[in-house]
Amino acid sequence: MKNYSFVPDVMYDSVFEITPEALLSRGIRAVVLDIDNTLVTYGVAEPTDEVIAWIDTLKQAGLSVAIASNNHEPRVALFNKKLGVFTTWESKKPFARAVRAACAHFGVTERETAVIGDQIFTDVWCARNAGALAILVKPIPYPENLFFKCKRVLEKPFIRAYRRRHNLK
Ligand SMILES: [Mg+2]
Repeated sequence: MKNYSFVPDVMYDSVFEITPEALLSRGIRAVVLDIDNTLVTYGVAEPTDEVIAWIDTLKQAGLSVAIASNNHEPRVALFNKKLGVFTTWESKKPFARAVRAACAHFGVTERETAVIGDQIFTDVWCARNAGALAILVKPIPYPENLFFKCKRVLEKPFIRAYRRRHNLK
């Protein structure tokens, strides 16, 4: 049955806590990553060494890695220069198109794919629309504008629901 919940399947404080083993044990073969406030903040143009190393560990474990950003091409292209992974820009998350494109590119199913991002109404919803695993990470702290602050308030009930479901404080 299709899952329509905004409650993430898994939550982490940061992408760096996500291990290849944890993904593989859920039958995941590909990840579709958000950039902004998931891997780096808005102001950071290129991946940090830590991001590069983390993505390398995923690849070495046999996972396919894609980036799906709603940001524009120049931002995504520059960010991907050192990574060289499959990317989509202006991905229109929460629509599933970018995830479908990555799955087709890698030859995996959406169920074998995890969408990893920092926003419920963009990344988690996108995972739901695609039928992929929804992994939410805490946004890397940055000065948020009013629009984002409002979105974060609206996300709270779903994060609380996740914590209740998993008996977390
Ligand atoms: Mg983001």
